[in-house]
Amino acid sequence: MLIRKPSYYDGFACLAGACPDTCCAAWEAVVDEKSLARYQALPGTIGRTVRDALTVDGDGDACFRLAEGRCALLRGDGLCALQAELGEEALCQVCREHPRFIESFGAFREASLAASCPEAARLTLAWDGRFTEAVTDEPEEDCEDVDGALLAALLPCRERLFGLLRDRSHPVGARMAAALGYAGALQERLDLGDVAGLSQTAPPPAPPAGTAGERLETARALFRVLGTLEILSPEWKALLDEAAGALADMSEDTYAVRRRDFVRARLGREAEYENFAVYLLYRWFLKADFDGDVYGKVSFAALSLLALQELGALTLAREGRFTQDGQLRLVGLWCKEQEHCDENLAALAQAAYDEPLFGPETLGRALNI
Ligand code: SF4
Repeated sequence: MLIRKPSYYDGFACLAGACPDTCCAAWEAVVDEKSLARYQALPGTIGRTVRDALTVDGDGDACFRLAEGRCALLRGDGLCALQAELGEEALCQVCREHPRFIESFGAFREASLAASCPEAARLTLAWDGRFTEAVTDEPEEDCEDVDGALLAALLPCRERLFGLLRDRSHPVGARMAAALGYAGALQERLDLGDVAGLSQTAPPPAPPAGTAGERLETARALFRVLGTLEILSPEWKALLDEAAGALADMSEDTYAVRRRDFVRARLGREAEYENFAVYLLYRWFLKADFDGDVYGKVSFAALSLLALQELGALTLAREGRFTQDGQLRLVGLWCKEQEHCDENLAALAQAAYDEPLFGPETLGRALNI
């Protein structure tokens, strides 16, 4: 079995009590059956504490309840009471593995670190862009839902997307626009049932640069759509409201100045957006094997980039600076709100088809300014 990982994967170490945004906040961690059985039999004070923290979520799954927005087992010092008392092996599967995610494609597996975790986000943005591959003794898995022919066709397409995004002879927005145009061309082929032709599809020329007005309209549309999605944290809600309000009232001239200031402020940090876009395509693109939606996967990366840059510009306008910590906070919030919510991912993928401004040409022009 081949296992692929980004080069930073094995260097990850949880920040535990020093984490600026513990993953034990805002989410109700679902407890697997094996851990649940263990918790129900745990003796002593810790057993009572753990059982007191258990509840049932809307889907009927056992989970740890939140107390004032944080896991009821989280102590004041930011450490988990269960882990502190019984060690990491006592954690349920979700807590033990987070932020590590493994996607199985039968013949191979891909591991990633969810950038909703601040330490994973830091590693992602500073990534050298390499992947590591190792072959283990494990047999290939029998994955009935994997379409082997489509998967084999999608793999070189993803490599090509990575190549477009890594081509530093262009600004990162122009690269994302080129990747989006390529995804549109791939989707057209796929919709015709031409799986074999995917690898022969050439990226069309990138759309011409858009105007500040076009980008402003597209950003407004994006924040309109984001306002209709599920919202996990009050911090994200406040940020969305602030961004939507600022964009709604902004003149094209003000927007152009604000954008120019932001581009200057982030000079030399384009690699962060590049790495983030590649991370998103690595995590999500091959899932098109399951639903045939190539364009939805790439447009998610493009909308993510647009949202991050707009929120970065908002931060700069508000605070007069845009720091690395500010960038990491935005990445973490974005990933937490979108990547960990199937409903939001589905809604954004659908918006790529329903919203005329999110098509390959229009969104590409907005990105490429
Ligand atoms: S968010 Fe990441 S660094 Fe923070 S506690 Fe969770 S796994 Fe550790």
